[in-house]
Amino acid sequence: MIYYKTEEEVELIRESCLMVCKTLAYAGSLLKPGITGAEIDAKAEEFIRDNGGIPGFKGYGGFPGTLCISVNEQVVHGIPSDKEFKDGDIISLDCGVIMNDYNGDAAYTFALGDVKEETMKLLRVTKESLYRGIGQAVKGRRIGDIGYAIQDFAEKQEGYGIVRELVGHGIGKALHEDPEVPNFGRRGRGILLKENLVIAIEPMVNLKTKQVVQENDGWTIRTKDRQPSAHYEHTVVVRKNQAEILSDHSFIEEMIKTNKELKQV
Ligand code: MG
Ligand code: MG
Repeated sequence: MIYYKTEEEVELIRESCLMVCKTLAYAGSLLKPGITGAEIDAKAEEFIRDNGGIPGFKGYGGFPGTLCISVNEQVVHGIPSDKEFKDGDIISLDCGVIMNDYNGDAAYTFALGDVKEETMKLLRVTKESLYRGIGQAVKGRRIGDIGYAIQDFAEKQEGYGIVRELVGHGIGKALHEDPEVPNFGRRGRGILLKENLVIAIEPMVNLKTKQVVQENDGWTIRTKDRQPSAHYEHTVVVRKNQAEILSDHSFIEEMIKTNKELKQV
């Protein structure tokens, strides 16, 4: 069942998405070698609650954290832990916030310190693939056009592995609504995109193999070959000529300029 949103609902989702991105920027500002995911997660939860939001992931399906924190070979759904980050890590922070009963969802992969150029390129391509997917989220296209654009760029042109097991999603009163939004697909296939469909687009791109496994913690997804993986996510609303991005990575990207531990992607 697909729920198309009213303009009022779109505005409420936008508010939640902005809080998500401010939280990601705040959490990212704390990143440095020696700090732990658990410390960042506690601060992020405090930040969201101080600003009148509810952490959308905490307790969702039993997930223990406010953020999903996935480091290096971890793809998504990493549980914040007491392990210290180190120079050269890539760290995906994924955040959900509920405000006024509506969910927002966005993610960003940060480069801490001296990250290998090969891995920096993976981050840049994954981020670019997200925007290529968003470019297809317009009235009259189909869901497969989004996945095709992402896959064509990241997999066919750049030779990376796109994760098949996890996909983007509709979003609204529920964190995960219909439709599924795969990061792979065929042009002209899948449901027709109509105005006011709100979806989270979130390519997960691996340096080498597309294959992933789940850790014994029941949550963390990592690459089978333990090579790095990147993840960027926006929540967008389908419009007539161009998708409107409801989340806003500029809060994050401005912050990165001020945290000298982080490398600009
Ligand atoms: Mg997310
Ligand atoms: Mg999502």
